[in-house]
Amino acid sequence: MSGGRKLLFSPLPLSEFGKKDFVFPLGGMIHSEGLFILMKAKKTKDPKEEVIFYGLPASPGVVHGPAFRFLHNDVEVLKYQVKESDHESEIERFEEALKITHSQILQIRDDVAKNLSEKEASIFDAHLLVLEDKALLDDVVNEIKKSGQNVEQCVDRVTRKYMDFFNKLEDEYLRERSADLSDISKRLLRNLIGETAAGTAFLEQPKVLVSEDLTPSDTASLDRSKLLGIATDTGGMTSHAVIMARASSVPAVVGLRGFSDEVQNGDFILIDGFDGIAIINPGESTLFRYGKVKVRRKKIKDLLEEEATLPAQTKDLQKLTLLANADSPEEVAKGIENDCVGIGLFRTESIFLRKNQIPSEDEQFEEYVKIVEAAKGRFVTIRTLDIGGDKNLTGVSHDNEQNPFMGFRAIRYCLRNPDLFLDQLRAILRASAHGPVRLMFPMISGVGEIVRAKEFLFTAKRQLEEKGINFDHDISIGCMIETPSAVMIADFLAAEVDFFSVGTNDLVQYLLAVDRVNNQIAYLYEPQHPAVIRSLRKIFEVGRTKKISVTVCGEIAGDPHFLPILLGLGVDSLSASSPLLAELKFFARRFSMKEAKSLVQEIEQLTRPNEIKQVMNSFYEDRVSDLTE
Ligand code: PEP
Ligand code: MG
Repeated sequence: MSGGRKLLFSPLPLSEFGKKDFVFPLGGMIHSEGLFILMKAKKTKDPKEEVIFYGLPASPGVVHGPAFRFLHNDVEVLKYQVKESDHESEIERFEEALKITHSQILQIRDDVAKNLSEKEASIFDAHLLVLEDKALLDDVVNEIKKSGQNVEQCVDRVTRKYMDFFNKLEDEYLRERSADLSDISKRLLRNLIGETAAGTAFLEQPKVLVSEDLTPSDTASLDRSKLLGIATDTGGMTSHAVIMARASSVPAVVGLRGFSDEVQNGDFILIDGFDGIAIINPGESTLFRYGKVKVRRKKIKDLLEEEATLPAQTKDLQKLTLLANADSPEEVAKGIENDCVGIGLFRTESIFLRKNQIPSEDEQFEEYVKIVEAAKGRFVTIRTLDIGGDKNLTGVSHDNEQNPFMGFRAIRYCLRNPDLFLDQLRAILRASAHGPVRLMFPMISGVGEIVRAKEFLFTAKRQLEEKGINFDHDISIGCMIETPSAVMIADFLAAEVDFFSVGTNDLVQYLLAVDRVNNQIAYLYEPQHPAVIRSLRKIFEVGRTKKISVTVCGEIAGDPHFLPILLGLGVDSLSASSPLLAELKFFARRFSMKEAKSLVQEIEQLTRPNEIKQVMNSFYEDRVSDLTE
């Protein structure tokens, strides 16, 4: 379903487990009321009116709270005349905005100094100097008095005049002051109108974040303890920002086209991450209905907790190997709480993105050791840098690629940047002396890449040996299977590695030629597609014949609907975000391997993804129906 505003009332999600049917419990009355409310909303813009948007369910959960607009676009400059008697209050608004801006920049400066370095922090000293520039401040005050226009217009005009001046200067350093001025001007304007800018999100109280889009580095820099939920206009279900939200159990809805335009800061928002719904100013009946949903979800959560210590196995006692996808020691700890056998995927780019720069070998080593130690003897699968696609690092990836997901990313980038790659390989090898580590290469599309990657690994090992540094000489090497070519030559790749891990997020996009973050075509992103099922069968068969283990670590691994299919097709282990593991175990206990295999036989006869989805869903619903009401 594509996103956007719909003239419908809020449906009640029927199932506790992701079934997409809706019931309309209060019938036509609410329907007509909903229409009435929405039509009126357009005319009067009454801030209390309920407006409902439908998008894609990206991370499960229902939350509500005040909205926080996280903006990327330029600020809209309000324009109006001010009476002479109001000039003083306009100047006071300016002084107040200056104070707020000053303290925000000081706060950013402190944070950057703490998390990065004094060098980066000093960028903000230049911003502070602009704010203290007497000539500029006087110009704004004079402009208010002279033009009789509101302060926003005057700030905009004066700062533009200064920017033009700096832009024309020969001296490069002085020309750069223009960029500082632009930043300051935007921040001042946002403070004047009460909005907050992207990248400066210091939430004082828990809020629902509303944005046109979120990049992985935006998500990495957010204070998750204050983040109730996320609602974005764009984005697909497997965008990296969404994966990070899911890993932190933050409910999210994406693909809500036009939503951020409708939301004002402080509007009360409800996010339903189970069914992909976002509601501005939900009315009492909506809150009541969602209250009931929450109670039912809570019942299920309690049940999952009660059964958490039961073994991971099917009804007929076939053991299930569950691993966790984890990017921080906290996520590793959550994985352990949920009984994971090891860490199946540690995306190292998360560290690069958090720092928004390339960490040194030592810095990486420290981070990897933290993860290895947090895993307490369980193995950690460390994947080498997968930058590019939707994961861009300032100054590192190609910014202007026509097809970034098919471009200069992951192993392609590393093989062309030997110093960076060797730094990372040495850091990973050094960490392997602190606990069991497996090494994995992403985005492999041919044997040549894995052979070259192994040559780099050999060099890194030799360099460490020369220095007498300890590491695991027999470290396991694996490759991600996430390109169609890797599926086709899986048998050749198997000869080069110890294990496979199937990255279905990418495999689906490349196999079906559907960009995983483009919500215009999100309806075509179908992991149930027969082409995906056939590819999985082929990969698992190669794993069996070549005697190497195969994990699935893409998002379908955490979806219980897929569990019987993956087991029936013969997967060895599944790696999913820690919060999803309990539900996988819970569902595994509700079917036998015989049933899973006959489900696979049935779906392999079906030609359309929708038919497969229906069969998968009813297999699931039949086994949890006792819990849904
Ligand atoms: C995948 O593609 O399924 C995968 C796990 O890698 P990422 O989501 O980081 O691209
Ligand atoms: Mg991938």
